[in-house]
Amino acid sequence: MFQPVDLGTFLAFVTGFVLLVLFGLQAWYDRRDALLADHRRLNSAFSCARCGLVYVRPRRREEAACPQCGWKNVRLKF
Ligand SMILES: [Zn+2]
Repeated sequence: MFQPVDLGTFLAFVTGFVLLVLFGLQAWYDRRDALLADHRRLNSAFSCARCGLVYVRPRRREEAACPQCGWKNVRLKF
């Protein structure tokens, strides 16, 4: 069932496998970091439907209360 494999072939296979895993992990962490940085960097803009005030809240959120009148507004989408 098992065929004898020489050491060079075995080491080449193991090295290739390890490199594949490392590249995969690097790509995964790069993408994760980029997504997290976007999430922290982006602000959300709101325009109050009741009093007309335009205001900004940090981070990405769909709803925020107006600081002037307390009305809950949805995020402006561009
Ligand atoms: Zn308002």
